[in-house]
Amino acid sequence: MLTLHNYINGKILPPSSGNYIDLYEPASGQVYGQVPDSDQSDVAVAFQAASDAFPSWSALSIDERSRYLHKIADLIDDNLDDLAAAESRDNGKPLWLAKKVDIRRASDNFRFFAQAITQFASESHAMTDAINYTLRQPLGVVGTISPWNLPLYLFTWKVAPALAAGNTVIAKPSEVTPMTAYLLSDICRQAGLPPGVLNIIHGDGIKVGAEMTKHPKIKAISFTGSTRVGGEIARVAAPMFKKLSLEMGGKNPNLIFADCDYDQMLRTTLNSSFANQGQICLCGSRILVQASIYDRFKADFVAKTKAMKVGHPSESDTRVGAIVSKLHYDKILSYIEIAKQEGGNILCGGEAIHPEGYEDGYYISPTIIEGLDNSCRTNQEEIFGPVVTIIPFETEAEALQMANDSNYGLSATLWTENLSRAHRMAKEIEAGIVWVNTWLQRDLRTPFGGVKQSGVGREGGFDALKFFTEPKNVCIRY
Ligand code: NAD
Repeated sequence: MLTLHNYINGKILPPSSGNYIDLYEPASGQVYGQVPDSDQSDVAVAFQAASDAFPSWSALSIDERSRYLHKIADLIDDNLDDLAAAESRDNGKPLWLAKKVDIRRASDNFRFFAQAITQFASESHAMTDAINYTLRQPLGVVGTISPWNLPLYLFTWKVAPALAAGNTVIAKPSEVTPMTAYLLSDICRQAGLPPGVLNIIHGDGIKVGAEMTKHPKIKAISFTGSTRVGGEIARVAAPMFKKLSLEMGGKNPNLIFADCDYDQMLRTTLNSSFANQGQICLCGSRILVQASIYDRFKADFVAKTKAMKVGHPSESDTRVGAIVSKLHYDKILSYIEIAKQEGGNILCGGEAIHPEGYEDGYYISPTIIEGLDNSCRTNQEEIFGPVVTIIPFETEAEALQMANDSNYGLSATLWTENLSRAHRMAKEIEAGIVWVNTWLQRDLRTPFGGVKQSGVGREGGFDALKFFTEPKNVCIRY
């Protein structure tokens, strides 16, 4: 049985309460570790450490801070196999996926912001009799709160820019998937990161995340997770005038026009529907298909989905691994029941499966549902699992109307070879990210985030560095 610890002031420490939460392996449904059940007193100790570390960390030259981040990136790469195995075991995602995507992206995040900070400049505005220049100064101690679906990937996506910009950080990984953040503590020690610069506190959302949010001296909260929790954070932090970045849920449309590159679309749609068991905030869960190719698409998509192997995450031919937790597994299954009650026709999947030897694991076969109106719960609420619906449309206007008929607005994918349509639709779709003839193709310099109930603010590139700094204008009269 593994026991995880917090990382505070450069030390690996037990929670002050002495209490732990059980950590489950989704592939087997068995407890395999203990996560600190930290609380307000751990947040207080971490805050003191981060506050003490801030003057010297923020005073380092950009090159010196950048070198620490590069070192962490290199150590993540050196430990790729161990980190990928830990991520897969903790989350249930296929091992090959953790290796190919999650862990590589974690080192990329550190490396990207190690470089970005060296290119981050501020503006100057000349007047006839004065010059203005803008200083961009770190905020102080900031908090980051991240979810379970891409554990180390999203954890580092926040921590790296915060550190690069000269802040000190209290970071809370999801209590459901804390393992790789715990392993990162040791990597930070090996990299010689000064004590208190990064503090990692494990535990439950209310006891740790909410305490960070209401802490009067934590200057900013960068959150990724559900819209419900994002709303709770905003309710507490906004009246305190904290800086807030909220990356939240989605119900992304995947719009498929008859004039698309069909084979490419089909391959990618399989991925955008079911990668990481459909637990990527950018997955396209509402598939809108032009009526003239609907039957062909349905037949091909169902056949390819049925051929995907659902199995233990460590097996190299597994395409769909285990759902992250029992709670989430029950939620997804309950939504499949709702879809049936709403009149949905399950074309494939729709049930729990029990691979031999792992009968207590949390496996759900990839599910395609048709026959539902866009306005029903199945098409309006985030399920966040291997469940998609397909809906036919006749015209571009009808497709656009359905795509935008959602409280969410994170991303959209558009399949068409008609250039004018691509530009026209990209402009009209209410989302922070639109992919045309591709999906999840990421350039880390681009703004990342959502509109409506999917988010407030943008991460990525200089947007993240702007979030983690405060602009100050200095006006000097000649
Ligand atoms: P969640 O909101 O339940 O939890 C996210 C984090 O918030 C966890 O670390 C949790 O412990 C913490 N938390 C819970 N209650 C809190 C509170 N009251 N105050 C402060 N922190 C609290 O989300 P989840 O179930 O871990 O993740 C799935 C959700 O994340 C989905 O809705 C998904 O769409 C979303 N997500 C969004 C993006 C994006 O970029 N927009 C990316 C990944 C995941």
